[in-house]
Amino acid sequence: MLRSGKDYLASLRDGRRIRFGKELVGDVTTHPAFRRTAQSFARLYDLKRSPENIAAMSYEEGGELYSAWFKAPQSKTDLQHRAEAHRRVAQWSCGLLGRSMDHVPSFIAGMSMKPELFEANCPGFGRNVINYLDYLRKGDLFACYLVLTPQTSRGVAGPTKANFRMVGEYDGGIIVSGQKMLGASAVFSDEAWIGSMIPLGPDQVEEAVTFAVPINAPGVELWVRKSFELNATSRVDNYFSSQFDETDAVMIFSDVKVPWERVFCHRDIPLMRDMYFKTPGHVLGNHQSNWRFSEKLKIINGISHQAAEYGNLLGIPAVQQTLGRLAAGEATLLGLLSAQVDQCQSLPSGHVHVNNRYLYAALQWCAHSYHEIAEEVRLLLGAGPFIMPADDSILEEGEAHDVFEQNWKITSATASKRYRFVRMAWDLLSSDFAGRHQQYERFYGGPPHIMDLYSFWHAPWLERREGVRRILDDMMSDPLSHAAE
Ligand SMILES: Cc1cc2nc3c(=O)[nH]c(=O)nc-3n(C[C@H](O)[C@H](O)[C@H](O)COP(=O)(O)OP(=O)(O)OC[C@H]3O[C@@H](n4cnc5c(N)ncnc54)[C@H](O)[C@@H]3O)c2cc1C
Repeated sequence: MLRSGKDYLASLRDGRRIRFGKELVGDVTTHPAFRRTAQSFARLYDLKRSPENIAAMSYEEGGELYSAWFKAPQSKTDLQHRAEAHRRVAQWSCGLLGRSMDHVPSFIAGMSMKPELFEANCPGFGRNVINYLDYLRKGDLFACYLVLTPQTSRGVAGPTKANFRMVGEYDGGIIVSGQKMLGASAVFSDEAWIGSMIPLGPDQVEEAVTFAVPINAPGVELWVRKSFELNATSRVDNYFSSQFDETDAVMIFSDVKVPWERVFCHRDIPLMRDMYFKTPGHVLGNHQSNWRFSEKLKIINGISHQAAEYGNLLGIPAVQQTLGRLAAGEATLLGLLSAQVDQCQSLPSGHVHVNNRYLYAALQWCAHSYHEIAEEVRLLLGAGPFIMPADDSILEEGEAHDVFEQNWKITSATASKRYRFVRMAWDLLSSDFAGRHQQYERFYGGPPHIMDLYSFWHAPWLERREGVRRILDDMMSDPLSHAAE
């Protein structure tokens, strides 16, 4: 089934408990902190089932259509199809909805390709993963994930009271309490995948549980950060923050009952991490992240060129060099994305996944480059954002507007167009919303130091050492030959 935007919005009115400051939000589809972003997600549901997109965004099985990201890929063609679906979702949301509905199912699709890993923990858990993916795809559901324990409960100090943990079991499953972080898009999701991607210590066995719950499960509450959408005054002044504020939330569990069929790991500390890294889960999930980044980068690069033009800077060689660096970065990422699919890897099960090395190289490049890219483009804007009038009321016809048009116009743009451009650039690259994106790009795949380690772990070091060994052997074969000549 391919859900409509209307059905999606209706599903959000399900009694979920969203805490916004001290307020308990009744309906995220009408609340001023969330409603326009809810509409943006709904629009994605409508776009993907529209006649011009439906073939690129879905696949058929048993006479039914499903969203492309629910398929566990079995060929390069499947991967190409999946990649194009990610790219379109990212394009429609300007690369600003990091945890769009194609993110978490990609992790779970990857995990479903190695059910034996879960079966080793408990017979039936592999089947639970496959069934859960099937449940999501049949309802075309939106899942988020919270796979970190709060910072306060890590390390030698051991678990704290607020720490997430299993507090008991009942006939039908487990009972959990405590906090999990950090649920981007959780407010807009149907379901949450709960686990831990960071290693747990041997004393944390009560935290070693991975499971899924509906967002409106009894005992679940989401505590949301400050809203950018709420403070977005207009579509012109806040084009992005007014409609793409996916939100971040801490989830609090109070004696929540989770049935066994939604449990995927139970008191197994290694499996908590292995399910991401010893299956294609992490690489398939982050393939979506790379596509999302590339679509955002295309917009940023467009802004850089237009800023240079509006500033009359395009002819300056140093500025051309800056634009060249930005263009080279975009091409590097697009090349890595192509290589991820072209050089895909196979599993004995007959499944395929994107190439690990190119995925992790791209992830590392994105996490390390974003703040530099944003800074380069902000530099190109110069004082541009600060010479504009206070707000978009200046675009309304009248005396002030006429003075504005006469004095702020440039050869290539009216003052109004220039105003809209500068506001767009500011919202994306310098606002409060932009600050969240800088932090997000740094952390979405884990902390920055881990980004380098992924590539360390996946590089063919023995092959590289072999090249060095051949040279060293060659030196030894006739050490004095040059000296004798
Ligand atoms: C906007 C945003 C959205 C997010 N969305 C989600 C989501 O949807 N789901 C989810 O589960 N998580 C999400 N996260 C959480 C994200 O995965 C974590 O932020 C990330 O894993 C880092 O964990 P941390 O924030 O606890 O930082 P920490 O691990 O506490 O790290 C803090 C700083 O210390 C440094 N540091 C720590 N240890 C070392 C070390 N050994 N060597 C060198 N430096 C070190 C780190 O590099 C970092 O700079 C999101 C985060 C952000 C910022």
